Amino acid sequence: MLSATDEGSARARVELVPEDHPIRNANPVRAILRRYRPRMSAHGLDVAEDEGAVAPGSEWDSDLYRMATKQFDVAAELLGLDQEFRVRLRDPRRALVVNFPVRMDSGRTASFTGYRVQHTLTMGPTKGGFRYAPDVSLGECAALSMWMTWKCALLGLPYGGAKGGVRCTPADLSDAERERLTRRYAAELIPIVGPDQDIPAPDLATGEREMAWFMDTYSQQVGYTVPGVVTGKPLVLGGTTGRREATGLGVVYVLEAVCERMQILLRDARVAIQGYGNVGGVAARELHAIGARVVAISDASSGVVASGDRGLNVAALDLWVAEHGSLAGYPDAEHVAPADVLEVPCEVVIPAAVSRVITADNAERLDCRLVIEAANGPTTAEAEAILLKRGIPVIPDVLANAGGVTVSYFEWVQDQQRYSWDELEIHERLRRQLRAAYGRVTDAVDRLQVDWRSAALSVAIERVAEAARLRGIYP
Ligand code: NAD
Repeated sequence: MLSATDEGSARARVELVPEDHPIRNANPVRAILRRYRPRMSAHGLDVAEDEGAVAPGSEWDSDLYRMATKQFDVAAELLGLDQEFRVRLRDPRRALVVNFPVRMDSGRTASFTGYRVQHTLTMGPTKGGFRYAPDVSLGECAALSMWMTWKCALLGLPYGGAKGGVRCTPADLSDAERERLTRRYAAELIPIVGPDQDIPAPDLATGEREMAWFMDTYSQQVGYTVPGVVTGKPLVLGGTTGRREATGLGVVYVLEAVCERMQILLRDARVAIQGYGNVGGVAARELHAIGARVVAISDASSGVVASGDRGLNVAALDLWVAEHGSLAGYPDAEHVAPADVLEVPCEVVIPAAVSRVITADNAERLDCRLVIEAANGPTTAEAEAILLKRGIPVIPDVLANAGGVTVSYFEWVQDQQRYSWDELEIHERLRRQLRAAYGRVTDAVDRLQVDWRSAALSVAIERVAEAARLRGIYP
């Protein structure tokens, strides 16, 4: 609140404005007071009310953020979570939005917008990927950062969640432009990242190459090599064996456990996968290797559906993509739109591409026994309600794709210790950690008699809320 003195000085400032300026007719103090009038929030705490264009909390607003907070609210209700923690855990702790120039190959300069959102600092440093996509936004990063918090808490990793990205069309960037963009984005983020602050990792359209550039840029700034500032690096730069495959492999480990529980024989099951990048590709290869039949798969260019009963030849698909860059034109299969692979009859649907692809529009048409979310946020709340009503469980992203951040954690620990583990150790630890998280989720499913997502989130939220309670509020 402004004091009387503040009001006086504000009036003095207005005297400097010319006679005919419209502000002379306004009362600036009243306007300020109107903008920042305290009110009781929905959670019963005082918050400043901003009557300007941006309502309180709405800077994060996006379909994805609404989805994430709705899921949080359901789990919080289930837990009977105290109002204090609903407020403290719901919105991200901090965010950085940057606009920066990049010199393009043509000689012209383009401006890009980048984001980094850190959801909670309660559990340790923050952790989460950064992505390159045309629709990256603050709201999207906020939602993804919140899911990262729950994922890390569910897996028992000593991190809060973060997420970032640059709004761009990655396919339009040359390698040199991509490097300049990555280095500048890294430089912009330096005040808030670091091995003990926030540790980025790969996500959509980013991988080992981008992590190497990011690590090098950070290291050049501080004056010595800091491998632990990012994970998902090339092996020779302090990356870990097994990181590249970790997310897809983790999806398969979790799926094996779910199939055992649902009495589905995975070795012979039909699987449809949307997304043929890092996660979808690894999952497809691993499932094919254990005998499952990949009956449909898609990338952004096309969906391919097996014509026979035996499923697609994944090795042949790999060869085709290596040679042609995408699935478009692959000869030995029927071609459909990328989204249509989700509706191919099968036992298991794996969305492994982008968010919000299973919606109220197609949920009725899914013809499977279960959905396992390899992508982040692929199922809308409306779609999930329809699927659950149809008896199709959705194994949530925070459990299903947690293999990536788990092996990222292993990489960070190895970087901090300057000591590396072998592949066997990584795979064993990954399987053990995912099995333990799976056990915590199934315990909650059985105990609370709820769906998998609510169970997983309630386990995670309870852990973070307990940490916040024990730390108290500074000062
Ligand atoms: P990627 O860029 O390697 O691959 C993405 C794939 O999806 C590509 O095949 C692309 O062509 C395809 N795709 C894009 N838009 C599509 C569309 N509209 N329809 C069908 N296919 C489409 O990315 P990735 O690393 O495999 O990540 C995939 C998903 O998994 C993302 O949601 C990401 O957030 C999530 N994820 C990734 C990791 C990781 O370690 N990489 C970890 C956890 C979660």
